[in-house]
Amino acid sequence: MARDPDEVPGIANLGPDPLADDFTVETLASIVGGSRTQIKGLLRDQKVIAGIGNAHSDEVLHVARMSPFKVAATLTDEQVAALHTAIATTLRDAVRRARGLAAEDLKSEKKSGLRVHGRTGEACGVCGDTIREVSFADSALQYCPTCQTGGRPLADRRLSRLLK
Ligand SMILES: [Zn+2]
Repeated sequence: MARDPDEVPGIANLGPDPLADDFTVETLASIVGGSRTQIKGLLRDQKVIAGIGNAHSDEVLHVARMSPFKVAATLTDEQVAALHTAIATTLRDAVRRARGLAAEDLKSEKKSGLRVHGRTGEACGVCGDTIREVSFADSALQYCPTCQTGGRPLADRRLSRLLK
């Protein structure tokens, strides 16, 4: 989908469209390569990549089997490639499911198609482990420890700070 920077004020501040043909593995590699941001924060930053929100960034990371706290610049070439594939499949699936649905059905359909987001305490559809939640920035994220963090639950920074 082409964007005209003159059409909508502020649109020039958006990052590339991840479903555009020119969003290649190399494009993604150049974005993550110089970033010391945790990958979860990078994915949902509209100025870096446009169109991946809080929910879909959780989904992308589960598909890519990657810890949300991983620092972007530490990704290997294989991990960048896996992430690129995960972004494309996750967003295309979401578009496919949304197509043809009435607006009132969209919210429930969106949730039913999600693998980890909003599913804290439920079983992971891939491995059966319990989906966990941890605070992230101004909200929370959901992930599967077995699929994404080598079976180790992530430390909740907000909680550890309170316990000190
Ligand atoms: Zn899992």
